[in-house]
Amino acid sequence: MTPGSYIRMRREAAGLSIGDVMAMLAGGGLLSAPLEDIEADRAVPTGMDAALLSYAFRVDDFTIARLKDGEPVQVCSSCGCSEGFACDSGEFGRCWLPTTGTCSVCEYKARVERAA
Ligand SMILES: [Zn+2]
Ligand SMILES: [Zn+2]
Repeated sequence: MTPGSYIRMRREAAGLSIGDVMAMLAGGGLLSAPLEDIEADRAVPTGMDAALLSYAFRVDDFTIARLKDGEPVQVCSSCGCSEGFACDSGEFGRCWLPTTGTCSVCEYKARVERAA
């Protein structure tokens, strides 16, 4: 996983388009590069970018920093929650994350959808 794909995953998990995020960040002019470029890994997100994006959706700057350094991170393959940055869905509570795959909240939601 790359910093860009992590950020895209978190944005999509929040149900936001790039346009939505730009509207929330007053056009995104404070970002170091256009969000499209950051998500496509044409630009490396800075710590300031992570802080700005977290106004629009939850991103974990610790996870971004590790991805930038090429260190392994454990991230849910569905919603992108990570170690120390669990999702709290309310309805399903806080998740836990197995070594690979999706977190318990995503797993539970998928099971409910399959049963429906
Ligand atoms: Zn998940
Ligand atoms: Zn989760």
